[in-house]
Amino acid sequence: MRTQVGIVGAGPAGLLLSHLLALRGIDSVLVETRSRAYCEARQRAGVLEDGSVALLRRAGLADRLDIKGIEHGGIYLQFASERRHIDFRELTGGRSVTVYAQTEIVKDLIARRLADGAALEFGVTDTEVFDLDSEHPRLRYTAADGSRHEAICDAIAGCDGFHGICRPAIPAGALTSWERVYPYAWLGILADVPPSTDELIYAHHPDGFALHSLRSQAISRLYLQVSPDEEIGNWPDDRIWAELAGRLELPGWSLKQGPVLDKGITGMRSFVSAPMRYGRLFLAGDAAHIVPPTGAKGLNLALADVAVLSAALDGLLHGDESLAASYSATCLNRVWRCTHFSWWMTTMLHRTPGADKMEAQLQLAQLRYIASSRAAATSLAENYTGIAAGPAWHDATKRGP
Ligand SMILES: Cc1cc2nc3c(=O)[nH]c(=O)nc-3n(C[C@H](O)[C@H](O)[C@H](O)COP(=O)(O)OP(=O)(O)OC[C@H]3O[C@@H](n4cnc5c(N)ncnc54)[C@H](O)[C@@H]3O)c2cc1C
Repeated sequence: MRTQVGIVGAGPAGLLLSHLLALRGIDSVLVETRSRAYCEARQRAGVLEDGSVALLRRAGLADRLDIKGIEHGGIYLQFASERRHIDFRELTGGRSVTVYAQTEIVKDLIARRLADGAALEFGVTDTEVFDLDSEHPRLRYTAADGSRHEAICDAIAGCDGFHGICRPAIPAGALTSWERVYPYAWLGILADVPPSTDELIYAHHPDGFALHSLRSQAISRLYLQVSPDEEIGNWPDDRIWAELAGRLELPGWSLKQGPVLDKGITGMRSFVSAPMRYGRLFLAGDAAHIVPPTGAKGLNLALADVAVLSAALDGLLHGDESLAASYSATCLNRVWRCTHFSWWMTTMLHRTPGADKMEAQLQLAQLRYIASSRAAATSLAENYTGIAAGPAWHDATKRGP
């Protein structure tokens, strides 16, 4: 089989890349180990930066997003029994974020790729990538029917997440990695109850961090800081609701409770691997970097990477290597900014097990500063709503010849 770009992984990065390439007239084969139903139901992120929404609109992918997405003009920071609003629109000249679940983005992308007749294979096994430093790298996989396939490509995009096979296929010594594993995890629930808040509440609490988020006007998403070795079996629904109420409720404000639809525990790490290219293999999204979810950046970074990558691959396939040569550096600039912001939000809001009494006082001093200083609040607001996009990003939805 011959294709221009082999794509490994049908998460947001791989699916959007395949669509952006198709807009440019570039064909791709996209392979995914999981089933379509699994990909569409996997509960993950839900906050889109301004730039991500604009990108999806320009790419013709926002029909449902424009109806179901909920625009938020700020967040609440809660600490020392006070809840303070950070007004993004006022601080950043009108910028906002949009709550639209990653599951919905994935559904939209899969539906569009299949409607456009894309080569998209779910349920593959034994994915392998070869000849990465040649002009024709190869992608091999076993399809769901058991048949073995080989795609001869001009480039391969590794969009296969943190545990994928693409990053490990790069020879040892060609990559440098930075990693920090945090001594806490998030217990997340999806609940069949309307949100108790109009905007996200980030709560600093002596018992640990809590976050009230949402997925729609009818479905709430809530998180609790727990120990990374915590077992979900130790957390019956009543215990989760009691702990959430303890960390989030204030006099005059109580948390609405309802049936828990989904629950799970996710560890937290910061990870960056560079460069994001080896020969004709390009890494994008979680395959190259992970952030703790406190800054709501993981999904946005994945979309940003492939916006840059689609233009870089278009150039590479048409004899202009310049954007491919700068792909890694262009992306890493944003990646490191978001890595810092995610670390900053995380360490400001979580209680480190075994920390001395000084930690909480330093965190509270920082939170009070954000709540009282326009400069500090603006810094949070412009990072949360997303740093300005570069030229490659604006070029991402260019139509091909
Ligand atoms: C449990 C969890 C909760 C999260 N919660 C949040 C959150 O609340 N907020 C936030 O901003 N971010 C969150 N994130 C991060 C965010 O969801 C990710 O940054 C985003 O999914 C990255 O998209 P991606 O396409 O790069 O990777 P992924 O979404 O991980 O997609 C990679 C795809 O590759 C597939 N794959 C892997 N190996 C192979 C292979 N060998 N062959 C073929 N396919 C393969 C996988 O099955 C997967 O579908 C969360 C992540 C996780 C894991």
